Amino acid sequence: MRYCDKLCMDCGIAMKNVAVSRKRCPECAAVRQAYRSSNHRYPKGKEPKVKPEKPVVEFRAKIYKMAMNPALRFIEFEDGAKGFLRVKLGHPCKVGWEVDVVPVEGPDLYHLAGRYNRWGVRCA
Ligand SMILES: [Zn+2]
Repeated sequence: MRYCDKLCMDCGIAMKNVAVSRKRCPECAAVRQAYRSSNHRYPKGKEPKVKPEKPVVEFRAKIYKMAMNPALRFIEFEDGAKGFLRVKLGHPCKVGWEVDVVPVEGPDLYHLAGRYNRWGVRCA
C-alpha cells in the first residue's frame, strides 16, 4: 500500500499520509456510506408505486381457419362464437390449435396469451 498526502474530495481538508486509494476523510466516508446503504431512492414513509395489475381474462378458443392476412387467424370459442386472432407475422399457429386468447380493443379481436411450442401446446 502506498501512502501520500491528499485532500478529501468532499470537504477538502488535507489528509496526511493516507493510502493512495483513499478519496475522502473518515467523516465524509462515513456519511457517504450511510447514504449509500440507506434506500435513498424511497425515503421513509414513501412506498414505491406499484402498478395495479390488470385482471387478465383468458378464453379458450380453437383456430378453425387461416386468413389471407398472414397476421390473422379465425378462431371459434366453445360456445360457438367466432372472432379474429391477431398474431405476430409468421407466427406458427395453425388450424386446429387450441389457444388461450385475451380480448383487445376492436370488434371480436383477440391476442394470443402465453407461449406455445411447435405442436401448439401452451408452455408458459
Ligand atoms: Zn471530508
